[in-house]
Amino acid sequence: MAIQKSEHIWHNGKLIPWDEAKIHVMAHVVNYGSSVFEGIRAYDHASGPMIFRLAEHVQRLLDSAKIYRIEVPFTRDEISQAILQVVQANGINPCYVRPIILRGYGEVGVNPFKSPTDVYIANYAWGKYLAGADQGVDVCVSSWTRIAPNTLPAMAKSAANYMNSQLIKMEAILNGYVEGIALDASGYVSEGSGENLFLVRQGKLMTAPLGNSVLPGITRDTIIQLAGDLGIPVVEQMLPREMLYIADEVFFTGTAAEVTPIRSVDKITVGSGAPGPITKALQKEFFAIVKGDTSDRHGWLTPVPVGSKQPVGA
Ligand code: PMP
Repeated sequence: MAIQKSEHIWHNGKLIPWDEAKIHVMAHVVNYGSSVFEGIRAYDHASGPMIFRLAEHVQRLLDSAKIYRIEVPFTRDEISQAILQVVQANGINPCYVRPIILRGYGEVGVNPFKSPTDVYIANYAWGKYLAGADQGVDVCVSSWTRIAPNTLPAMAKSAANYMNSQLIKMEAILNGYVEGIALDASGYVSEGSGENLFLVRQGKLMTAPLGNSVLPGITRDTIIQLAGDLGIPVVEQMLPREMLYIADEVFFTGTAAEVTPIRSVDKITVGSGAPGPITKALQKEFFAIVKGDTSDRHGWLTPVPVGSKQPVGA
């Protein structure tokens, strides 16, 4: 989907016009992939936009920066406030929020220490990520392996990791699938190119532990907590590839993908081919919370203060 431009982007403490949020071609990030980022959804409630799990996203952003030794000149609270400010200023509801911390224009060479840190926060309208998400998507196991431990850190949401994701995604699309599932360096199930993966076998919900090169997904954590609320047993365990083929249910989770049932893996039908009861129960509970149809008992939603739009430069 083409980017839908909004009015303002937050840059290092100020709102600037969308078209002025530009970087130099020689910025460190362009040459060496040195950025960390987040993807956050704001849902449309009667009272205004509600940001889903803001604190956890900001924490993961700062964790990613810490792993890469990027010094961020803003506190967790300042970044959270900046996200609220840009969502309020642009008045797009619902929306997707994209904070980015990057190494900017400084010195030549791989050494990133002399390149300045730039923080940007954009937001824009975005709908469903995976086509056909309601009835379930057809996916494959990728021939590309997920980034191996101690190569690129999978726990950091860094731009560089998404070169691996792009290989997985392109291969899947060119072969007629909606998405690819990557195995880790030992051949165990890892995750999708931009989603965590769950499966259900004999009433038990299973997902790969963080040691299998998965991003610590915030939707993953949400689903684990909701399964606990619904009395569904959850195990984090290493999953051999063939578990995907004999599972009763398989689904993806992610900020973009939300909860997306998987209908087939490598052309092997998952269960009956229709979204299964545990997937449906978790999906229903997830959407009831994010859309405000049930109480926000976990305190996952942050309201965006409503009020007059902020002028550029504020
Ligand atoms: N894994 C990868 C590789 C991702 O890009 C994403 C999306 N951020 C996820 C998992 C899901 O994480 P989250 O639920 O926090 O969006």
